[in-house]
Amino acid sequence: MLCTNGHNNADDAAVCRICGVNTFSAPALIVKASAEYSGMAIASMVLGIVWIYGIGSILALVFGYQARKQIDRTGQRGTGMATAGIVLGWVGLAGIIFIVFFLTAVFHSVHVVPCPPNCQP
Ligand SMILES: [Zn+2]
Repeated sequence: MLCTNGHNNADDAAVCRICGVNTFSAPALIVKASAEYSGMAIASMVLGIVWIYGIGSILALVFGYQARKQIDRTGQRGTGMATAGIVLGWVGLAGIIFIVFFLTAVFHSVHVVPCPPNCQP
């Protein structure tokens, strides 16, 4: 167990054997400070970046919102990454919608308004 000055002591020590203080860092605080990153938050950000024609974006949103709930419950790290995944997810979905509209417009301009037989290209 660590004293508040960072010295290592036996778990049942009453005072620090090095500096003599009787205050020790609470184990819960140490666990909290070294908490691991949420795997779902990491997955969310990565999927938001890789995009995969919008599939990654949808998964990034699902994982991002799940990760936020999990982090609230467990105190894990990764809130920023979960938020990044959610933002990237929405941006990615906006991108796929834009592309679908763009391709639809191109398709219609080519096929719905055909060039009459006597027109000059
Ligand atoms: Zn000490």
